[in-house]
Amino acid sequence: MEFDSIINGDFVASAERSQNINPSDLSDVVGLFARADRAVTNQAIEAAAEAFPSWSATTPQLRHDILKRASDLILQRVDTLGRALSREEGKTLAEGMGEATRAGQVFAFFAGECLRAGGEQLPSTRPGVGVTITREALGVVGLITPWNFPIAIPAWKIAPALAWGNTVVLKPAEIAPHSAWLLVQILAEAGLPKGVLNLVLGKGSVVGEALVEHPKVAAISFTGSVNTGRRIAQGCTAALPMKKVQLEMGGKNPLVVLDDADLDLAVEAALNGAFYSTGQRCTASSRLIVTKGIHDAFVARLSERMQALVVGHALDAKTQIGPVVDQNQFEIDLGYIARGTDEGARLIGGEVVKAETEGYFLRPALFTEADNAMAIAREEIFGPVACVIAVDDFESAMEVANDTDFGLSSGICTTSLKYAEAFKRRSGAGMAMVNLPTAGVDYHVPFGGRKGSSYGSREQGTYARDFYSAVKTAYTLA
Ligand code: ADP
Repeated sequence: MEFDSIINGDFVASAERSQNINPSDLSDVVGLFARADRAVTNQAIEAAAEAFPSWSATTPQLRHDILKRASDLILQRVDTLGRALSREEGKTLAEGMGEATRAGQVFAFFAGECLRAGGEQLPSTRPGVGVTITREALGVVGLITPWNFPIAIPAWKIAPALAWGNTVVLKPAEIAPHSAWLLVQILAEAGLPKGVLNLVLGKGSVVGEALVEHPKVAAISFTGSVNTGRRIAQGCTAALPMKKVQLEMGGKNPLVVLDDADLDLAVEAALNGAFYSTGQRCTASSRLIVTKGIHDAFVARLSERMQALVVGHALDAKTQIGPVVDQNQFEIDLGYIARGTDEGARLIGGEVVKAETEGYFLRPALFTEADNAMAIAREEIFGPVACVIAVDDFESAMEVANDTDFGLSSGICTTSLKYAEAFKRRSGAGMAMVNLPTAGVDYHVPFGGRKGSSYGSREQGTYARDFYSAVKTAYTLA
C-alpha cells in the first residue's frame, strides 16, 4: 500500500518512496511512504500559514472538543494503533498498545489545557497604569520526531501545539511513519479544520531542513539525536526571523543500586529500564552503578532474569523483547557489543537470536567490570546494551552518575531516606527516580533533561505552554 503526505486535507504523492519494513519479519512491507521534496514541504508550510489566523482565533471550547474527540477515537482504537505501531517499530504488542493509550491520554490532558489558559493581571509601578500578561499562539510550528515512540512523541507535540492555537507541519521519522499517518487521519476525523495539521513524509535532510529554514515556520520542536539537534538549533538561529527551538536528545542514564536496596526491586528496575522496548528509549538505564556489597548478588540475579527473557516477533504474545528497529541500529548495537569486549568489560548475553521469521533479534547484553571512561559507558547506544560499574559507596556512585555528557533521567534503588533525598537533590539530570526504572514517566508533568540531553523549555504537562505560546505584556493607563 502507498502512503502520501497529507497537506490541507489532501493526499500529496511524491515520485520517490521509501519502504517501511517490519523489523520482526523482513518479508513484511508495511507500506511505501512518500519521500517529499522541498517544494512539497513548502506547500505544507503555506497551508499551515493560511490556516493559522482562523485556527488561532477559535474558542477554547472548540479546540477542547476536537482534542477530546481525538483522544476518544485513539482510545477506542488502541488495539489497531498498537498493532500498527508494533509492526513498524518492533516494540511488543503490550508496549505498542501502552504507547497508543498514552497518546490518547495526552490528547485528553491538552483538551483540558485549552480551558485552563489563564493570564496575570497586576498593578504597574506607575500610578494609574495596569499590566496584563497573556499568552498567544506562535504561528506555524514544525515538529520533527524520531522512530522510537512513533505515536506518543507526535501526540505530545501536536496536542499542546494545537491547544495553544498554533498550526502544525509534522515530519515523522522515515523508518516508522505509519503511526503518525494514522494519528493525523484521526485528527481530521475528530473535526480539525483542513490545513491546521499537515504531515510531510520524507528525509530529515530534505523535509526537516526545509522546515528549519522556512521563514514562515515560527518554532521547531525536535526529538532525536544530539548531532541532528545541534544542527537544527544552529539552523533555527541562523534563519531570519530566528526560530524558537526545543530539543530532546539522548541520554546515558545512571541507575544507582546501593547495598541497602531491595534486591528484587532493583533487579526488576534495571531489567525494565535497560532492556524493555529493546533499550530504544532515551530514558533507558544504560549505566548500572552498583555498590560492592550488593554487586555480585545483583549481577547474578539480573543475568538470570535476562536469560529468561523471551526475544522474538513483536506481535507474538509471548515476546518480552522485540527486535531492534532496523539494520542500521542492529549494526550499531553489535558494534558496541564488540567494542565493550575490546575495552575489557565482561559480556553477558548479547547474542543474535534466530527466530521463525527473519528479523533483527538480539538478546539483551550486559557488560560487567565496566568503568565509566569506556565508550559503552559514555556514548548513547540506543539498544538493549547496558553496563555495570562497581563503586565503593554512595559518594563515588554519585560522582560516576553525574560524570556524563548527558542529563536526561537518573535513578537510585535504596531503602535509605537519607540517600534517596540526597540523590534527588544532587542528580545532574532533569529527572530523578527513587526505586523506579529511569524510563517510564507520567504525561501530566514536565519531561526533559539537562546538558547534552535537552535544550529549550520542557515538554509535556502544563509546562509545555512555555514552548507553544508567546508571552505578551500589555500596559494600560486608564
Ligand atoms: P534517530 O537516531 O532517532 O533517527 P535523528 O536525529 O537522525 O535520530 O532523527 C530524528 C528526526 O530528525 C527524524 O525525523 C529525522 O528524519 C530528522 N532529521 C534528520 N536529519 C535532519 C536534519 N538535518 N534536519 C532536520 N531534521 C533532521
